[in-house]
Amino acid sequence: MSTLDAGLIDRFIEVVGTKNALTVEDDRTRYTEENRFIFKGVTPLVLKPGNTEEVAAIVRLANETGTAIVPQGGNTGHAAGAQPDESGDQIVVSLERMNAIREIDPQANTMVVEAGVILETLQQTADGQDRLFPLSLSSQGSCQIGGNISTNAGGVAVLSYGNTRNLVLGLEVVTAAGDIWNGLRKLKKDNTGYDLRDLFIGAEGTIGIITAATVKLFPKPKGRVAAFAGLASVSDCLALLQQAQALAGKSLTGFEFMPSIGMESVTHAFETVRNPLAGKHDWYVLMEISSTRSEQDAMEMSESLLHDAQEARIISDAVVAQNESQRQAFWEIRELMPASQKMLGGSIKHDISVPVHLVPEFLERAEPLVHSVDPGARIFAFGHMGDGNIHYNVSQPEDAGDDWYLTKRELINDPVHQLVVAMGGSISAEHGIGKLKRDLLAETKSPVELEMMRSIKRALDPNNIMNPGKVV
Ligand SMILES: Cc1cc2nc3c(=O)[nH]c(=O)nc-3n(C[C@H](O)[C@H](O)[C@H](O)COP(=O)(O)OP(=O)(O)OC[C@H]3O[C@@H](n4cnc5c(N)ncnc54)[C@H](O)[C@@H]3O)c2cc1C
Repeated sequence: MSTLDAGLIDRFIEVVGTKNALTVEDDRTRYTEENRFIFKGVTPLVLKPGNTEEVAAIVRLANETGTAIVPQGGNTGHAAGAQPDESGDQIVVSLERMNAIREIDPQANTMVVEAGVILETLQQTADGQDRLFPLSLSSQGSCQIGGNISTNAGGVAVLSYGNTRNLVLGLEVVTAAGDIWNGLRKLKKDNTGYDLRDLFIGAEGTIGIITAATVKLFPKPKGRVAAFAGLASVSDCLALLQQAQALAGKSLTGFEFMPSIGMESVTHAFETVRNPLAGKHDWYVLMEISSTRSEQDAMEMSESLLHDAQEARIISDAVVAQNESQRQAFWEIRELMPASQKMLGGSIKHDISVPVHLVPEFLERAEPLVHSVDPGARIFAFGHMGDGNIHYNVSQPEDAGDDWYLTKRELINDPVHQLVVAMGGSISAEHGIGKLKRDLLAETKSPVELEMMRSIKRALDPNNIMNPGKVV
């Protein structure tokens, strides 16, 4: 039961107006359940502020009354960071109504957007001005830029443009005290003390609420060519990556790898999806080359790369998309990997990264660890090879029961994460920590690093009202 009494709830509702608050009578499940359905929280109240002043007023009241707040964007996060806990004492603050594009400046290549702008809307707005906002995730139709910034989201364009941190120039934030910090700068260079912007990026709502951001735009490529290759080993995938980077440099804007089980699952689960290659291969790579000069330039680079790779026997087969719909069909295969894996039953997931050159070694060393727990477990590893980011997922054996996930989760998680740490990697490459990996963070970070994080949290949120129970 909530300790939030009716009087206090009314004071919160007053800030946003009744039509922008969901209370007990309303269906709040969209705000309390996460997309993997592992955690489900409870809240007596969802508030939808319409501007920064309203956010500040909510936080001031929360701070004064010791009420815990859970900021929420599109609720697409994979770390259970955006849901309230089970106590019924935490209120959700959804940024969905704060969805204005405040300014777009093609000359400066910048855009000022409110936190609730859907990523796809941001991309389309930039596109309308002949600019590119490169952040690209399969959840882009529902995740919000505030959520992307708060999780420092990665996606498929990190290789060339960096992750969200690299795309943000300035922030507007409501601090845990309810003050408004206007840091919406457009500066590329700004060495004036501690970088507060960087502190809020990836903080997962634990030290303040991001209400707006200045983001970077880029020239829109004139040509984008995708190629699909079949390879015999992950070492060959790495060799292809190195060759592609040597030839195309920053023009290599995507490099994703997928296993044979992934291709089989996708083509089996989705009738309209076809393997672009004639034969079966142990591994597949989807790569994209972009050119600011022309489509022909991108095509020439792609063809030259594939020719060289074939000569060097790095790839077994390859095909280049001949038009936009083929390019999209290639990407669809990659985007459907998670959905097709879901159809194989219970799955133990790891969003990990290792130094790029160690990806083959990681896969080689992780496999016996998994199979020593369950020889029938099906390793379904795919992801952003160019960033060393592997979605190292393990599907249940074909004949396993529904409890497989629960009985094997820790047994598989532990050695996999230990290996990641031993290889100098990260236990969360792009999905964040949230509630899901809070204990794991504490186990894998050094005491010095953990204490610095906790000191920051204590200093900026002394009453622990901002998303308590998450991250640290
Ligand atoms: C199909 C699918 C594909 C995905 N692919 C990728 C991928 O390739 N790469 C990747 O990195 N992620 C991926 N994700 C995960 C997810 O989409 C990202 O983490 C995304 O950035 C979350 O944005 P959101 O608006 O949904 O945030 P939410 O899930 O609502 O929130 C995430 C965290 O940020 C906090 N938060 C949200 N908004 C604010 C704010 N304005 N101020 C302060 N804190 C805030 C929340 O409290 C929470 O801790 C994928 C998810 C799905 C469902």
